[in-house]
Amino acid sequence: MTMTHSSHSIAIIGAGLSGTLLARKLLDAGHTVTLYDKSRGTGGRFASCWLDDISTDLGAPWIETSNDPDFAHWLNQQALIQPWQPRLHDFQGNPRSPLTCYITTERMSSLTRQLAHGTQLRLSKRVGYLWPTDEGVLLRDEHGIAISTHSHVIVTAPAPQAAPLLEAVPRFAQRAERVETQPSWVGVFVLQSPTQTPDGFIGTHPVFTRVVKASQKPGRLNTPEIWQVEATPQWSQQHLETPAEEVGIHLLEALSTVIGEDILIKQQRIHRWLYSRHASTCDEAYLWSRENSIGACGDWLGKAGIEGAWESANAMADQLLTQLHP
Ligand SMILES: Cc1cc2nc3c(=O)[nH]c(=O)nc-3n(C[C@H](O)[C@H](O)[C@H](O)COP(=O)(O)OP(=O)(O)OC[C@H]3O[C@@H](n4cnc5c(N)ncnc54)[C@H](O)[C@@H]3O)c2cc1C
Repeated sequence: MTMTHSSHSIAIIGAGLSGTLLARKLLDAGHTVTLYDKSRGTGGRFASCWLDDISTDLGAPWIETSNDPDFAHWLNQQALIQPWQPRLHDFQGNPRSPLTCYITTERMSSLTRQLAHGTQLRLSKRVGYLWPTDEGVLLRDEHGIAISTHSHVIVTAPAPQAAPLLEAVPRFAQRAERVETQPSWVGVFVLQSPTQTPDGFIGTHPVFTRVVKASQKPGRLNTPEIWQVEATPQWSQQHLETPAEEVGIHLLEALSTVIGEDILIKQQRIHRWLYSRHASTCDEAYLWSRENSIGACGDWLGKAGIEGAWESANAMADQLLTQLHP
């Protein structure tokens, strides 16, 4: 096993929005960054999936901004991101007031792929353990095999997955353990023929929190009609251990009722996000132990959600760049 260590060889665990944004900022400042992710691609909860030759979103379907002008400014600067004003109805069929959100060209995960460009990207690599040593922070995989040693390590996994990785700093692990999460069952359905419907439905519903006609997103119009449906946290919790196939039947029936037409599908993908969102967060925007060179950022620190992940990664980057400044 090759052990790599340079003066500032930074490892980031997790290639979602917070991990890839942090990586980008560190790379742009001249540092060497290795990004580890247990999944086969980047994106985390911005993941996309392939159904035959069609790529579509499986995680967050769009990005909304609340009141952070810096976040809106950053989104507007990203070449891959464009605004979208979907025509949305509530689940009773009434038009909703217009919503401006942002989507990424082709698929949501392309943003993280672009941010990660230039890193040493280690995909399908689950980090099981990290510990400070005299040579740096040692990473081991889930089988206990040493992966590498880095000068600094930042964990960006969701809180329940971050907690065991932060054991070397018990107060960080305890914070992560206290954070509450919500699950989401998500279904992606490729239809055989188009429907006469708005771009999505949102609001109060016994099964869904939101259903989106994903094929209607700008730049994706040359695909068959695709719907991405997201079950409520309550419904998802009740069906947490239900087999995906059975969940798919429920979701398709409910979608058919919402659309008001029988639906014939070509393809489907049903995915359980065990930690879709954080229902509570820690007050700190990031965690950093200078003594151990171990830190954490992500959407469970500071504000929840996409904007929270972005803010947390920026705050972590500011901290590291100040400390690592030559
Ligand atoms: C279906 C869905 C809809 C959503 N809708 C919205 C929305 O409308 N608005 C909103 O604000 N938010 C929404 N979210 C939440 C939003 O997607 C997240 O807040 C945001 O993407 C979090 O980014 P992150 O980088 O902090 O974490 P993640 O994207 O979860 O990235 C963490 C990464 O760490 C990796 N990882 C974990 N453990 C390990 C390990 N041991 N070793 C290696 N890698 C590891 C994971 O594979 C993952 O890629 C939604 C999420 C889902 C799933």
